[in-house]
Amino acid sequence: PRRVVVVGAGMAGVQTAVALREQGFTGTVTLIGAEPHQPYDRPPLSKAVLLGKAEGSAFDVDFEALGVELRLGCAALAVRTGAHVLDTSEGPVPYDVLVLATGAEPVRLPGTEDVPGVHLLRTLDDAERLRPVLAGQQDVVVVGAGWIGAEFATAAREAGCAVTVVEAAGRPLAGVLPAEVAAPMTAWYADSGAVLRTHARVAAVEPGAVVLDDGERLPAGAVVVGIGARPATGWLAGSGIALGEWGEVLADDRLRTGAPDVYAVGDCASFPSRRYGERLLVHHWDNALQGPRTVAADVIGLTPAAYDPVPYFWSEQFGRFVQYAGHHTAADAMVWRGEPSGPAWTVCWLRQGRLVALLAVGRPRDLAQGRRLIEGGAPMDPGLLADPARPLKTA
Ligand code: FAD
Repeated sequence: PRRVVVVGAGMAGVQTAVALREQGFTGTVTLIGAEPHQPYDRPPLSKAVLLGKAEGSAFDVDFEALGVELRLGCAALAVRTGAHVLDTSEGPVPYDVLVLATGAEPVRLPGTEDVPGVHLLRTLDDAERLRPVLAGQQDVVVVGAGWIGAEFATAAREAGCAVTVVEAAGRPLAGVLPAEVAAPMTAWYADSGAVLRTHARVAAVEPGAVVLDDGERLPAGAVVVGIGARPATGWLAGSGIALGEWGEVLADDRLRTGAPDVYAVGDCASFPSRRYGERLLVHHWDNALQGPRTVAADVIGLTPAAYDPVPYFWSEQFGRFVQYAGHHTAADAMVWRGEPSGPAWTVCWLRQGRLVALLAVGRPRDLAQGRRLIEGGAPMDPGLLADPARPLKTA
């Protein structure tokens, strides 16, 4: 191919452009992004950028030197796969290969779309709007005790805001972690001085207050909604490109879509994992770093191995470094390493005696060793695994 067009100038799109050049692609690379800003990294948005400790988080990539044409403030509107043309707000863009990397969009709280003072946290603009809320030490209500809610609450407490987190489920991270693992995290909120209201739902947002379904009014100078994200693929409707139940592009094990010469990578796409025996939709940074290497290799014709990573992510919350590698289901056996009430512990998940996932709190060595063990797939001794004083190894 001579012309590769990448849609979405986030981590996955930028890394695709970089990987193409690293792997020797000499044709044109055009990177199209809807946001007006120089491409930037998202994890710092809920951390240093929010607190004003960093101005921004632009990627340290010299696009000009790489020979990558950046088209910012340009939104893809549709794709005509037969004609190999991408339609954008700035006109049609022909391609030989198209890479979809449009990421995800946060889910809005129904009925609050136009209410002033209700924020999301996905973009640099969102973070910049939230900075004065923290600097002004306003009372904040966070809706959703997921990863974003926890990180925002952490930053807001550090800034000195009064923070209430409203969560519909009975514990934090209810959709992601089993009750036993999430339960100790409930205490993290209280220890930081945030109030966590579980089994609570927002009935209405009024100026200066959030009203819960039991009638209680929580004072709120600002409301931050962190109730999940969905692939940003609405613009692909009618393109013939197959989408899954969350709207994600259904890619194959080399991140190709069913449409000719169209790939999909990062938060907007799922892929079949042989390792885990199911399709994975991963909304984390490492997947947006690794996937592009497979895409670039396949575009160039290097026939890469199937994309089947051990997913990895981290979160910094309430003074703790939380890391997770792998993928588990409710059917997998859990083994604890250390006391969940303590400052550092790990949970391992075993399937047929092999390590498939682990969550490490303040134990980065467990994470590093565990990640390799998951990759290797060697059988584990659960008895030895449970001893936190022993390094994580097979025997
Ligand atoms: P995105 O980063 O969403 O980039 C997609 C880009 O495409 C966006 O800039 C968007 O504007 C653009 N776009 C969308 N539609 C169109 C269109 N039609 N036309 C043109 N452009 C379009 N992960 C971790 O592992 N650890 C963390 O600590 C962590 N912290 C995070 C904190 C925050 C606040 C957020 C929001 C995410 C965090 N993540 C973290 C997740 C991680 O940032 C994402 O997984 C990663 O950004 C995914 O990269 P992506 O390129 O696939 O998508």
